[in-house]
Amino acid sequence: MYLNGKVAIVTGSSRGIGRSIALALAQQGADILVNYTKGETEAKAVANEIEALGRKGIIFKADVSIAEEAVNMVAAAMEHFGRLDILVNNAGITRDNLIPRIKDEDWDLVLSVNLKGAFNCIKAAVRPMLKARWGRIINITSVIGVFGNPGQANYAASKAGLIGLTKSVAKEVGSRNITVNAVAPGFISTDMTEGLSEETKKKLLAGIPLGRLGGPEEVASVVAFLAGESGSYITGQVIMVDGGMAM
Ligand code: NAP
Repeated sequence: MYLNGKVAIVTGSSRGIGRSIALALAQQGADILVNYTKGETEAKAVANEIEALGRKGIIFKADVSIAEEAVNMVAAAMEHFGRLDILVNNAGITRDNLIPRIKDEDWDLVLSVNLKGAFNCIKAAVRPMLKARWGRIINITSVIGVFGNPGQANYAASKAGLIGLTKSVAKEVGSRNITVNAVAPGFISTDMTEGLSEETKKKLLAGIPLGRLGGPEEVASVVAFLAGESGSYITGQVIMVDGGMAM
């Protein structure tokens, strides 16, 4: 229970990887703000699971792409728990298409949620961390942000941007004992990958040395490692959790 007494915000934690991260941090003793936009019932279920682990879990509806909502979310965590130690920027979306067919609004939306959303949350959350001289910021990027992928230019740009954001903020706040890292999942079994065609899945699997999709809990365990004292001398890094896909 190395996160006893710590408080975490996990964006987009009503389902998928975010849900697993929220539960992994709670298992280590942290109290959690579960953030969502649409899935209130799912978010409540996650908060109930957190409470069943003996921790406090609150839900908060906020679209991370809107700065005011990110500010309100951080204020809610501070009001409810009196502190904020860990921010996990996990909320993310895809709007895949080949470049000539990407609509302007789909470019803007993906960049707004995946990249500006992380910026909004970091900007709001870093204040209490700077004051406390302790903090952990973990941004969920993707192997696609490192290697690119046809049909995912908007998503790849947002996830590559997240890596630049991670490194810059890591350099900016390192002297205050705040670490900032990125975790880059490969092909993880969630709603996001559910919609892929059997043919695409087959092709993707052929490129994974471990020969299978990852589970969300296999990403969450790495985030939990970075969130604790175990990750105290790791900052500005991109940790691949991809079954060897992106070697
Ligand atoms: P998912 O199952 O589609 O879940 C996305 C989560 O983000 C949901 O909780 C959703 O909440 C929330 N969300 C969406 N838009 C939001 C917004 N504007 N503000 C706040 N929350 C928002 O996705 P996932 O597969 O777990 O992916 C989680 C993260 O891992 C994403 O950043 C994704 O890019 C990254 N990733 C995933 C994979 C993979 O293979 N699955 C691989 C690499 C990276 P609502 O339902 O309430 O809207």
